[in-house]
Amino acid sequence: MSEDRVNLLGLPRSELTAFVAERLGAKPFRARQLIKWIYRRGAGDFSVMTDLAQDLRARLAEVAKITVPEIVAEQRSSDGTRKWMLRMDAVQGIETVYIPEPDRGTLCISSQVGCAMDCSFCATAQQGFNRNLSVAEIVGQVWLAHRELEASADEPDGRTDGRPDGSPSGRITNIVLMGMGEPLANYRNVVPALRVFTDDLGYDLSRRRVTLSTSGLVPQMYKLAEECNVALAVSLHAPNDALRDELVPINRKHPIDELLAACWHYIDKQNGRSVTFEYVMLDGINDKPEHARQLARLLRGRPAKLNLIPFNVFPGTRYRRSPAATIVRFRDLLNENGVIATIRRTRGDDIDAACGQLAGQVTDRTLVRLGSRLTAAARSSVEV
Ligand code: SAH
Repeated sequence: MSEDRVNLLGLPRSELTAFVAERLGAKPFRARQLIKWIYRRGAGDFSVMTDLAQDLRARLAEVAKITVPEIVAEQRSSDGTRKWMLRMDAVQGIETVYIPEPDRGTLCISSQVGCAMDCSFCATAQQGFNRNLSVAEIVGQVWLAHRELEASADEPDGRTDGRPDGSPSGRITNIVLMGMGEPLANYRNVVPALRVFTDDLGYDLSRRRVTLSTSGLVPQMYKLAEECNVALAVSLHAPNDALRDELVPINRKHPIDELLAACWHYIDKQNGRSVTFEYVMLDGINDKPEHARQLARLLRGRPAKLNLIPFNVFPGTRYRRSPAATIVRFRDLLNENGVIATIRRTRGDDIDAACGQLAGQVTDRTLVRLGSRLTAAARSSVEV
């Protein structure tokens, strides 16, 4: 087998159709069959694709492959949250988190190894930027989670993970790009992945069930508005430029008024419902009543929802989480001032706590350290 076999995972439908025609001399409907096998049925091997002729399967195995990242470790929380650490190379790892809820199953995926945005309260920022994920690595996270969830559907309690009412779970109904990395800084690979998520032959998720979260890369937000129509979340975190410059450094390049203009444009263009603004609650920093009032002035009357995220502490951070009562008061003040605000529930706490224990389970120590540092960021990002 040659080393230049094409990885079909994440290949846009048009490219796959061209590949099937040029390399295999097969009709376009073969490409559709392949897409369904890969995503809907989670096939990782051409040999299982029984509705393709045997010689076509053999040819496919010569020129193509379906390659996904390797799972290095998995952790399961008592609340049903599952976290997979995936190997990117000898020393780098990323995390993918699945959060079951009574009415949905959300998969939180990463778009880069590390991140270059350097937000002062974010664990991922501490490790710096390593590289962009490929389309296959982004889509591969969904493919793997899908496979793992299917596999554990047979377990005695596999179908009731995290569901007090015992109703079925284990299905990915929502995807959020809220793991490691800044998705709009990896625009080239993220957009094709979004297409696979919403493609009716792919994961077939409605555009409202796929959410991209950005720290505010304004030019790419305008571009995205032209090309894609997934739901948008924006990491706001501060109601004025002085504070946001400090917390989210990209603000020095694209200040709040520019950012908000891009948000409203996105919603207009997409006929979308609203932008979800993420706001991490940092004790004594951005959680005062005057901050809530400033926020209300920015967002009142706009297609906006605020999601307040209790800060997740990680080693080496100078910030603390706002007290619960402060967060509730902040939310109430926003609601009283005409802005819809909710508090993000923290999930998967116990796997965070158990993180240091991972050392006994995997041998690559660099990856272990990386994993424990990533936990705070991954956990913080799991709910919308
Ligand atoms: N880079 C994108 C995607 C990451 S989403 C973005 O910034 O939107 C992850 C969300 O969790 C972001 O809103 C991020 O600001 C927030 N976050 C990061 N570190 C956190 C922490 N320690 N506690 C709580 N939320 C955090």
